[in-house]
Amino acid sequence: MNELLTQLNELLIQNKLLIEIVYFVVALLFILGLKQMSHPKTARKGIIWAGVGMAAAMGITFLYPNMGNFLLISIALVVGGGLAWWSGKRVEMTNMPQMIALYNGMGGGSAAAIGAIALLHHEAHSKALLSLAIAGGLIGSISLSASLVAWAKLDGKMNRVWRFAGQKYLNLLVLLGAIGMGVAMAVLPEPPLALTLGFFAASLAYGAMMAVPIGGADMPVVISLFNACTGLAVAFEGFALQNNAMIIAGTVVGAAGSLLTQLMAKAMNRSLGNVLFSNFGEGGGSGEAVKGSMKEAAPQDAAISLAYAAKAIVIPGYGMAVAQAQHKLWELAQLLENNGVEVKFAIHPVAGRMPGHMNVLLAEAGVPYDKILDLDEINADFASTDAVLVIGANDVVNPVARTDKSSPIYGMPILNADMAKQVLVVKRGKGVGFAGIENHLFYLDNTRMVYGDAQKVIVELINTIKSL
Ligand code: NDP
Repeated sequence: MNELLTQLNELLIQNKLLIEIVYFVVALLFILGLKQMSHPKTARKGIIWAGVGMAAAMGITFLYPNMGNFLLISIALVVGGGLAWWSGKRVEMTNMPQMIALYNGMGGGSAAAIGAIALLHHEAHSKALLSLAIAGGLIGSISLSASLVAWAKLDGKMNRVWRFAGQKYLNLLVLLGAIGMGVAMAVLPEPPLALTLGFFAASLAYGAMMAVPIGGADMPVVISLFNACTGLAVAFEGFALQNNAMIIAGTVVGAAGSLLTQLMAKAMNRSLGNVLFSNFGEGGGSGEAVKGSMKEAAPQDAAISLAYAAKAIVIPGYGMAVAQAQHKLWELAQLLENNGVEVKFAIHPVAGRMPGHMNVLLAEAGVPYDKILDLDEINADFASTDAVLVIGANDVVNPVARTDKSSPIYGMPILNADMAKQVLVVKRGKGVGFAGIENHLFYLDNTRMVYGDAQKVIVELINTIKSL
């Protein structure tokens, strides 16, 4: 008993017990926070919980035994935290994917930096811990440079897709070079500095080289993959530093990122290999030629169709996000409901440009969650629906996904808008969607095109219905 008390006392003196307790609470906050993020109703709370966990994990670092450089750490926290706060407040919803890419890259870079420090103090670590630091350094560096390329592409700063014969083999060679140098570092008793530098240079080069041939439009899926890589790198570095909070946070991010990547690829009916190595939407197969013509309707006519419908379904897409039309859309839905129309919102899993894009926007506008239905929940309802309002959506309602084997989106599950009695499509003109192909829905006899910016058209619909 006495011995136990003495040990406990020693642990407390060195803050070790306190640190372990805080890390345990931090891990709980991360896991419970993530759980809450899975539903829009609790997502905000989940983010706050995880944020408190992160703040506690950073705060407890100051109590580490033998910790120094407090001024430098504080400056880094103030500068990094300030920049994140400022950019987080300013970012538009439509620019969210590139912001996530940038921050993900920073996570990978931080993991790689921890690996670099562990390698510079080579002698202080066992071979096993060094190997983990090297693995984390490799994956973190790849994630950093690849995420920066993804950010540049999504932000329109890098529009070219570089492809050349033998590119995959060259990339493989660079990756094998990085792995080879990593193995040498783990084995050699005193690896030269040049080897460490070469290892990081090759890892960074590989990340950029693998991201450069991928089209900007595929980047959200790829970012999700890099996100999983960053998580893995952080977990490896957590082992190297013997830091439980990093191990748990990294593992959770790695698992969540991998699942999300799989879900996104599945919802687009594509394999991960196809996302990474194909030229989707950039000159690939465009499918069968379209028959018929697009028939235009004035917003006033569309308003009358909606107002006299018994059941209506709204399908929002990327164009709604661009036009920031969600608030007006909810106002329109409420107006229709007051007129006795039953209104539901149908969300395709990959509508917009990031997972949950439409759910977030509709939740922001105050649409109740029981009115927002997923593809599986609503697809059977279209056949008994009088009017479908497609707002800035395109690929997610393209019926060729069901019928045309030569189409790049063949096999992707779609919302069955074409089965409704009437379809009203709001978009600015004849622009194609993400997949770069014609939409056969727009040419059907029961479809009317209402041209204009989504927000402006909805305002016209609202004004017309009010005056009926
Ligand atoms: P799409 O990209 O297929 O189509 C969007 C349409 O919105 C365009 O045809 C455009 O036509 C119209 N539009 C643009 N701006 C406006 C505006 N201001 N007002 C009205 N209309 C506008 O969007 P979807 O949401 O249907 O499909 C998403 C696509 O993105 C899918 O192919 C999916 O696979 C892909 N994707 C989704 C990801 C996700 O996680 N959600 C990730 C990666 C890819 P016009 O120019 O004529 O106005």
